[in-house]
Amino acid sequence: SLLYKIEKWGAPYFSVNSSGNISIRPKGLNSSSTHEEIDLLKVLKKVSDHKSSGGLGLQLPLIIRLPDVLKNRMESLQSAFESAICSWNYGSRYQGVYPVKSNQNRFIVEDIVRFGFPFRFGLEVGSKPELLLAMNCLCKGHPEALLICNGFKDKDYILLALIARKLAFNVVVVLEQVEELDLVIDLSTKLCVSPVIGLRAKLRTKHGGHFGSTSGERGKFGLTPRQILSVVKKLEKAGMLNCLILLHFHIGSQIPSITMLADGIGEATQIYCELVRLGACLQFIDVGGGLGIDYDGSKSSNSDVSVGYGLEEYASTVVQVIQQVCDSKSVKHPVICSESGRAIVSYHSIVIFEAISSSVSDSPGLNPEGLQHFVEGLTEDARADYSNLSAAVIKGEHTACLHYANKLKQYCLDQFKEGSLNIEQLAIVDELYGMVSKATGASEPIHTYLVNLSIFNSVPDFWAIGQMYPIVPIHRLDQKPTVKGILLDLTCDSDGKIDRFIGGESSLPLHDHRESSGGQYYLGMFLGGAYEEALGGSHNLLGSPSVVQVSSQSSEPEGFIVTMATPGQSCRDVLRTMQHEPEAIFKELKQRIKALGQVNGTADGMFQSVLAGIFSNMPYLTRGSSCS
Ligand code: PLP
Repeated sequence: SLLYKIEKWGAPYFSVNSSGNISIRPKGLNSSSTHEEIDLLKVLKKVSDHKSSGGLGLQLPLIIRLPDVLKNRMESLQSAFESAICSWNYGSRYQGVYPVKSNQNRFIVEDIVRFGFPFRFGLEVGSKPELLLAMNCLCKGHPEALLICNGFKDKDYILLALIARKLAFNVVVVLEQVEELDLVIDLSTKLCVSPVIGLRAKLRTKHGGHFGSTSGERGKFGLTPRQILSVVKKLEKAGMLNCLILLHFHIGSQIPSITMLADGIGEATQIYCELVRLGACLQFIDVGGGLGIDYDGSKSSNSDVSVGYGLEEYASTVVQVIQQVCDSKSVKHPVICSESGRAIVSYHSIVIFEAISSSVSDSPGLNPEGLQHFVEGLTEDARADYSNLSAAVIKGEHTACLHYANKLKQYCLDQFKEGSLNIEQLAIVDELYGMVSKATGASEPIHTYLVNLSIFNSVPDFWAIGQMYPIVPIHRLDQKPTVKGILLDLTCDSDGKIDRFIGGESSLPLHDHRESSGGQYYLGMFLGGAYEEALGGSHNLLGSPSVVQVSSQSSEPEGFIVTMATPGQSCRDVLRTMQHEPEAIFKELKQRIKALGQVNGTADGMFQSVLAGIFSNMPYLTRGSSCS
């Protein structure tokens, strides 16, 4: 496990147990007993074993959701802010919201509202459908939970937000553009509802990481100082300045360092104080998201996959900086709101997938007859290289060995292209070359593992922005990996591969997949609970994975229960997403089968049942076919 740095990126939730499997501590380090540890392989077996052997029969790939982890993350965030507020003697409270864009899955949002009820946790949305789902979920939320409406807005979005206000949701319409204000004033007057308004400031502070372009002078979002002044004037003119209660900003996701955070919070709090000076009755400062995740466990402040701080330091800095600036301007301490998405949901889900095959092979070795035939077929130049190679091997001269092996390989390839060498001979030269590189230690071969996954669906950010996640075998961690590999997915796309790993590695230490019990070698992609599901696409019509929800349950023999299990999208489902009609396709093909059956007596029943099975199954590779 040291090899995979699991203790570094996985703490306090993931470690390795005495069976060599990944162990989950859903309640973090607070869990007092080992009963609260869940063996991930056991979960996988339970979920994927055939129904006939007591399993749930779900196909892979699979997302395992851990609501206990979600709850623990929320409680940790809340308590980090509460202790910072207490230790700095801050004059107000923390009241967070969850930005649903991070993962809009219904069960996650419902869980967040439920777990967050004791501390008035609310939701943040950025579009009309997100607002609709948030209104529904917050029906069960704390009455004071905030519903923050960010994002670019049209008349309908603002109307919906105002209706939500009428329905007693604690809605704040955050102005992203000046033009939105005219609509807010006009529509709220018509609906006779007093709006609660926030505004998003464009900060000059900009972080250098991938998400840094969110802010800065040329950032995409928020109002400039001139625009902020014009909003204040308009509100004053409409007699609505008292409606402006919240200042929002977002420095960018995955803020790398505490210095950068302090810089941004300081700038924003100055804007807050200026708005108070101009007469606004502000009460909330919403610091946006940006609380980062240490994906590689390196605690580094200058990397896109790490952050140089933890929850406590983050909360303490936010509270301290706001307090300092407000005190210097004699402004009352505001309620602090944050919109942490990544930090809340990343840890709570794991994608499990299987390595189907690999290029690791047991070499049959060179047989002397084949070798002789090979040598006889070579041109004179190539034969000279072969002799030089043999001599260098005998003398143990590594550099010369490699030199002649390379030359020989190139000659043979040229001869093959000309048609004077056959495929058996080409295979022999590859074998020879492999033996020489292995013996000289020149290059450890990188093996390719075909995995039953679509990167475009399950790890889209790897493809889109090079985001890296910890990927490790979930079992056999007590055995030394014997090869180095990269992962190729099922899509017919050259980008469908993972060849960069945390720690800057270009390969992953892996086991020979054939030596796993049952021949099944499983890998997990961790910390991908935020953004990946909503961003994932259906390249090659490989759809979404199966999903299960697992909670710790000490009364159960295995320490967990599966509280929900949903099969992934079937071939039928993914066909529909591109406007095909699976029923019509089935009917058409059935007719064809029937017609053909009448001609040559084919067993059309079998054809039909194979077809029906394929429509219902997931598009990923299955073990055993529908015929069996
Ligand atoms: N709030 C806003 C306005 C955002 O744009 C984002 C995402 O970038 C977030 C909150 C969530 O950020 P994070 O996932 O870094 O917490």
